[in-house]
Amino acid sequence: MDNQTLQKRVEAISLESFGRPFRHQATFNSRLRTTGGRYRLADHNLDFNPRMAELPEFDQIIKHELVHYHLHLTHRGYQHRDADFKALLKAVGGSRYAPRLEGNRRSIKRWRYECSSGHIIERQRRFDTRRYRCGRCGGRLTLLNPQEN
Ligand SMILES: [Zn+2]
Ligand SMILES: [Zn+2]
Repeated sequence: MDNQTLQKRVEAISLESFGRPFRHQATFNSRLRTTGGRYRLADHNLDFNPRMAELPEFDQIIKHELVHYHLHLTHRGYQHRDADFKALLKAVGGSRYAPRLEGNRRSIKRWRYECSSGHIIERQRRFDTRRYRCGRCGGRLTLLNPQEN
């Protein structure tokens, strides 16, 4: 994804989920390490971590940053601890935290497992399903969609 595609995606999500236009700039910033994105109070622009752009939850990361953006511009509580922030984040389905990226910068892999009762477990690293069980019900785990990893 390039900056132009990112900009269009942020604009589209802003209109779709917030009913308000995004009138500033969204750009990838490879200096972001563990966070998915950043709202810049000074100029209202958004930075996004290019390593997270291919994750399935990238739209939720965009929504998270747009919650900061729209609340700040409308003079409401835009910080994580604010009730406005929590309520709007929940309403639009934004991510609460950036997904953790571990190891080297290439490892944005995501391994998905399903237990016999249907619980989904996602891990950054692959593990042996013969040695681990579902943490919620103790059921056996199966690796899902290994081709997508
Ligand atoms: Zn935030
Ligand atoms: Zn389970």
